[in-house]
Amino acid sequence: MSVSPWPARLGVYVHYPYCAKRCPYCDFNVVQPGPEGRPDARYRDAVLAELDVRAAAYSGRPPAVSLYFGGGTPALWDPECIGAVIEAVQARIGLVKDAEITLEANPGEAQADTFIALRSIGINRLSLGTQSFDAEILTRLGRRNSPDDNRRCVSEARRAGFDNLSLDLIQAVAGQTTQAALEDVDAVLELEPTHVSTYELTIHPQTPFGARASRGELLTADEDAQAEIYEATRQRLSESGVMPYEVSNAARPGKEAVHNGLYWRMDECLALGAGAHGFVRDAALEWGERWENERHASRYMDAALKSMPAERHRERLDAATLDFETLMTGLRLDAGIELSPRARGRFVERLETLQRRALVILNAEKTSVRLTPRGRLLLDEASRTLLD
Ligand code: SF4
Repeated sequence: MSVSPWPARLGVYVHYPYCAKRCPYCDFNVVQPGPEGRPDARYRDAVLAELDVRAAAYSGRPPAVSLYFGGGTPALWDPECIGAVIEAVQARIGLVKDAEITLEANPGEAQADTFIALRSIGINRLSLGTQSFDAEILTRLGRRNSPDDNRRCVSEARRAGFDNLSLDLIQAVAGQTTQAALEDVDAVLELEPTHVSTYELTIHPQTPFGARASRGELLTADEDAQAEIYEATRQRLSESGVMPYEVSNAARPGKEAVHNGLYWRMDECLALGAGAHGFVRDAALEWGERWENERHASRYMDAALKSMPAERHRERLDAATLDFETLMTGLRLDAGIELSPRARGRFVERLETLQRRALVILNAEKTSVRLTPRGRLLLDEASRTLLD
């Protein structure tokens, strides 16, 4: 893969916050529906009303290259509502031909008829929360899916016509050996996904796992074990033709995630839904604006339906902040990032320092940079040096 050029592209993200049950490690914006069930039609109307308001900030852009339904568990949303959102995005923003349209689903929850309906409304990629193929680890993670659910889910999705499948794995759970982690990777590879995301179990303070960790319970593997699992996983994936292309992501060539690629390259994201994060910028990256929507689903809907989307947070980013963030997100990509003349002027000396510490590799002209394997493990240290 060559060094990524600087494409100014747009994606649309839609957050559906409802989950059947909250997983104890999860810190996403998630709501468990009450006895009255999920307000699917009202939520759809709120998202459509928000789109009407937000579209103006992105006028004049080329059509979006991706549409991503994340959550929460958007596979629980009535497919007719999802279809209405796809049509509205097509009408208001536009989608390029063959735009990547992804939806997240959980094995054991999404059924064959749901996949058929999702395929028929235009979803062309699924991101499946398989997380592990080890029943004991799934139990420890508080997941509702079993290894059999994972396999059944993949085969039902394929039968429904999905040939672009991304599978997630959570790794480095306390006590997990490298051998056990690789068995999980092998189980994923047996299902021949186009894309694999591997994440280390992260403990967030405001979660049940956070509370258990604060009482001294050991929930994650130690740093050395994490590093060994990480490197062994990347190697096993690449030996199988699923090539690591980002710190946590690997894909068959040509199947790299388009939508996530927008975040790593500081492209624009029109975000809709409770707790969604959006980003708008000017063409030259002189300024950008990032916002987070109201997280509470009812308050989000109340405001959006009055055509006054409520925000929890909005910040203006200046050119210097954008240069730093562009560099840090671009460094996550194995291919690295081209340095703009402005970023070169600002960072090249600190990048040379990092190169001497074998954390990054600059090309001879010092116009592009990428992480070394050691740098991938020490990304925080690289970030601190670049900020100094
Ligand atoms: S299913 Fe996903 S979004 Fe929902 S609680 Fe579990 S990890 Fe969080």
